[in-house]
Amino acid sequence: MTSSNSEIEINNISPNEIVGGVGKVLTIEGIGFNNIQGDSYISFKQESGEYMDEIESKKIKYIFWSNNSIKIEMPCAYSGEVKICVNGLEFFSEKKIYVKANLGYTNLNPLQYCHLINQNGKGGYTWSIHTSLWNIPEARIAIEEVIQEFREDTGVNFILEENPTDAEIDLNNNINLITLDPTLNCPGHFFNKYWDFPMDLYNFRYTQTMIIHFSDKEQWYFGKGKIPEGKSKFRYVLLHELCHSVGLGHVNEEGQTMFHTVTMLPSNNWSYRDRITEEEKIAILHFINNSQNFTFSPNGILPLKKIDEIV
Ligand SMILES: [Zn+2]
Repeated sequence: MTSSNSEIEINNISPNEIVGGVGKVLTIEGIGFNNIQGDSYISFKQESGEYMDEIESKKIKYIFWSNNSIKIEMPCAYSGEVKICVNGLEFFSEKKIYVKANLGYTNLNPLQYCHLINQNGKGGYTWSIHTSLWNIPEARIAIEEVIQEFREDTGVNFILEENPTDAEIDLNNNINLITLDPTLNCPGHFFNKYWDFPMDLYNFRYTQTMIIHFSDKEQWYFGKGKIPEGKSKFRYVLLHELCHSVGLGHVNEEGQTMFHTVTMLPSNNWSYRDRITEEEKIAILHFINNSQNFTFSPNGILPLKKIDEIV
């Protein structure tokens, strides 16, 4: 006699490499899913190491559910086994899903994101370099080049202020700041201030001010390419933080800029790379496109402009 529970199995996931949070469809095939979803759900590993809980899992957009095939919109997730919960019992896929990039959202279904806007009246955002970095010529060149390359790769309308600033690390200054920070206890970090406007189903959110700060305790290497022994690559950490500024979250996929650690091993195995990956580009372009095309306009804010529209 066989228990009916043992007849639940996930035996195929396609595609097995995916970008989370951009509306990509994931197909999960197997047996014993039941013909109606009812109280059942799919769940994925999160950055915390835990799986999405039942409430969050049920927010996923379920496009199709049958006894042997399920289609969903892929949420943000860490690579790992896919979990299915049927009639209160949990089962895990044999094969893993590999999530190469994640675009963070403010609402999972329907997908809503934080927006970048035309904040500086020139189409986007102006970043200021603090004197702590400005006075290191190699650091200044690194920031200028990384932002230029990031613009080319993503189309994001970021420009640099022509003069340095002595501004404090304070989002209320409304200065988008790139600075060293003697109090920071990790190599680099991004944080922002945003506004939420309530709409019928969800909030409309946009970024007001952003800060990228770097530890002054790291042995920074400001050059391109391979990292000298014992150093941390400033350009790579900056690239990682810039990816956060355009909506990307972390992944646990080695080789990606958004891998959750940015210095030492294993990141040093791929942080010789100076540009974002193709998967990151897919996620960022989705975010930028969304920021360029919103029509809701609280307080008269305007969408991010396309770089080629700026004269
Ligand atoms: Zn990060």
